[in-house]
Amino acid sequence: MIQQIEPSVTHKPLVGASLTELTDWVQEHQQPTYRSQQLHQWIYQKGARSLTEISVFPKQWRENLADYAIGRSKIHYEAKAVDGTIKFLLQLSDGQIVEAVGIPTEKRLTVCVSSQVGCPMACDFCATGKGGFTRNLERHEIVDQVLTVQEVFQQRVSNVVFMGMGEPLLNSDNVLGAVKSINEDIGIGQRLITISTVGIPGRIQRLAEYHLQATLAVSLHASNQALREQLIPSARQYPLTALLDECREYVKITGRRVTFEYILLAGLNDCEEHAIELADHLRGFQSHVNLIPYNPISEVDYQKPDQRRIQTFVNALKNRHVAVSVRRPRGLEADAACGQLRASKTGG
Ligand code: SAH
Repeated sequence: MIQQIEPSVTHKPLVGASLTELTDWVQEHQQPTYRSQQLHQWIYQKGARSLTEISVFPKQWRENLADYAIGRSKIHYEAKAVDGTIKFLLQLSDGQIVEAVGIPTEKRLTVCVSSQVGCPMACDFCATGKGGFTRNLERHEIVDQVLTVQEVFQQRVSNVVFMGMGEPLLNSDNVLGAVKSINEDIGIGQRLITISTVGIPGRIQRLAEYHLQATLAVSLHASNQALREQLIPSARQYPLTALLDECREYVKITGRRVTFEYILLAGLNDCEEHAIELADHLRGFQSHVNLIPYNPISEVDYQKPDQRRIQTFVNALKNRHVAVSVRRPRGLEADAACGQLRASKTGG
C-alpha cells in the first residue's frame, strides 16, 4: 500500500507561489512585507525543504510554522546513468510517485518534468501510457521537480522540457502556472522551456492565446492519418490535417516556430516515403523536426532503425528544406530516456 507521507498538509503549499502571493501569505501571518522576499529566496534560490529551516525568520514564528508544508516532494529513489543523467522517483504528499529526469551536458542542465501521474493517452510505444492515468499534478508538484534537480546537481537548471510523464495540455492550468513560476521565480527564460504535447483538439490554439515565449513541441510520429492512428489511439478523434492546421494557427498567433517530434520505429514509419510525405505536410511551415529514435520498452517489440536508415530519413527531409535534428538518447540504462518513464525503478 502507498504510504501517506505528509498528512499535515492542510495549507496551500508555498512552492510555485509568486512574490505577490508570498507577500499576502506573510501579511496574513502579521509579519513585515520584507519577509516575503526572504521566503522567496529561501524557496527558489536556497531550495528550503521546510519553513523551520529558514534561519532568518524569528525563532518563535518558525516554531508556529511547523504545520505548514512548503510543498516539496520527497526523493524516493534516484538512479544515475553513465552519461550523468539522473532519474528521480519523487513521492508526492498523497504517496503517489512521479518521475523527473536531470540531464546534464557541457553547457546545460535540462530537467524533463512530468505533468501528470501516469498518462491517459496510451500511445503504443510509451511506457508511461502502459500504466494508465492516476491524476494531474498540482503546480507546486511540477515546480518541485526543477528545484529537486537544482538541489541534487548543485547547479542552476538552464532548460525545462515537459516531456516526462503525462500530457501537459490535459493539465493546462497547472502547467501554465508552473511555467510562470519556473520563469519568474526560479528565473529560467521562457524560451528555454518546452511544452510537448500529442495534441488535444482546441488546446494548442488556446495555448497560443497566452502568447507564451515557451517552445511548443508536437508529437507527430507519423506522416499520415492511418499510421498515426495505429500508434496513437487519441489520433482517431483528431485528424492529422486538423492538428497541423491548429499548429499553423499557433505559429500565426505567437510568431514562434513549432517543433515536431517524430519517433523512428524501424520498418514502420522510418521509410524514405514517410519522410517525403512528412516534408509535403510541412512545406512552408515555420517548423523544425526532431527525430527520436525509439527507446526500447519491455511491453512492445518495436525496433530502433539503424544509423543508415536514420541518415536516409534525415537527408530526405533536408533535401526538401525541412529543418531537422536527431535527439540523442540520454539516461538509457537508467530507464530515463524518452518514453521509458514509469513510476517504478526499472522498465522490467
Ligand atoms: N505527452 C507528451 C509528452 C510525452 S514524452 C507528448 O506526447 O508529447 C515526450 C516524447 O517522448 C513524446 O514525443 C513521446 O511520444 C516520446 N516517446 C514516448 N515513448 C517513446 C519511446 N519509447 N522512445 C522514444 N520516444 C518516445
